[in-house]
Amino acid sequence: MAATHDMNEKPAFYTIKKADFGKFFESLTRKYKVFAPVEAGDEHNFRQVKTVSEMKLGNYVNVEFPPKKFLHPNGLLMMEFAGSRVRQRAKTGKIALFGVRPCDTHALDVLDRVMTDGYVDAYYKKARGSTLILALNCKSAGDECFCGSMGTDKAIGFDLLFTETGNGFHVEVGSEKGHSLVNNKLFRKTGSPAAKAKLVFRKQINTENLEEVMRSSFSSEFWDETAKRCLSCASCTSVCPTCYCFDVHHDAEPSEKGIEKVNISRTWNYCMLQPFTRVAGGEVTRESRTERVKQFFYHKLLYGKENQGKLHCVGCGRCIRECMTKIDITEEAAKARSEYESKK
Ligand code: SF4
Ligand code: SF4
Repeated sequence: MAATHDMNEKPAFYTIKKADFGKFFESLTRKYKVFAPVEAGDEHNFRQVKTVSEMKLGNYVNVEFPPKKFLHPNGLLMMEFAGSRVRQRAKTGKIALFGVRPCDTHALDVLDRVMTDGYVDAYYKKARGSTLILALNCKSAGDECFCGSMGTDKAIGFDLLFTETGNGFHVEVGSEKGHSLVNNKLFRKTGSPAAKAKLVFRKQINTENLEEVMRSSFSSEFWDETAKRCLSCASCTSVCPTCYCFDVHHDAEPSEKGIEKVNISRTWNYCMLQPFTRVAGGEVTRESRTERVKQFFYHKLLYGKENQGKLHCVGCGRCIRECMTKIDITEEAAKARSEYESKK
């Protein structure tokens, strides 16, 4: 599902000047709804923009809410039953996301594996196919970022990858769609890859034999201590770029004549919440907070690798930033390793 670059050729590199970037951007908005990072208070988030001047990169590290919201929207109205009619409601227009960070291109790769390998989620697939990924390399790492240790600091699966330079951007082409976007006078071919900024990370996870480390610490007592600090607020899961769980709801719209319309929609759901594992008959399979906390961390640091061949943590640091009680996945991974070492 990742963008393909048939290109049996070497990567194609271009440059574009700042003055021409505005023209490129405006031409893009004629074909796509363009979303880009806009500064809002202390955070940046994707907002629809029409001109470059609306896009506020400022001290942009990453968006608070990751790109998944465009591909797997919370509250998606899937279909509607009205009388004998069934209408497919989820609409997907062509959108372009500018400013997707390298870690989030890896998160999209995780979602692609979950939503389109084997079982194919038609809603996700359609949205993904009509979304242009215009990635943007980082100039510096945020305090909570640790993509450097997760191997997710190099963007993948993009249509175009931008790197800011003094007087514009360096652009790497990653797909046929991307190729068609640079095939004009605004872009100049160059032979050299981008000079990427050297990022300094304050956090890291040691991923060496991480699967073994996580398996060996499953019953460790430190998980109870972590769970005591957890508020079950689910902030971590709501901002995580690779969390994809959802509930399906049907809402009936009654009228004097009876039920005239039933809407089927899906909303995000979170393993950190107790009702998440409530099944028919009222049984809750993860009653304790320790079990729920472990589910989150094990999904990110072990199960994803077991099931989709890739860790579901891409080191974006959002869960650390959002957690009110400072629960930190890098510290939990370090505790797991220390338990593992102590058993040797
Ligand atoms: S953000 Fe922190 S407190 Fe809230 S559910 Fe996640 S780990 Fe628990
Ligand atoms: S677990 Fe935390 S650091 Fe890892 S991808 Fe999710 S939000 Fe980012």
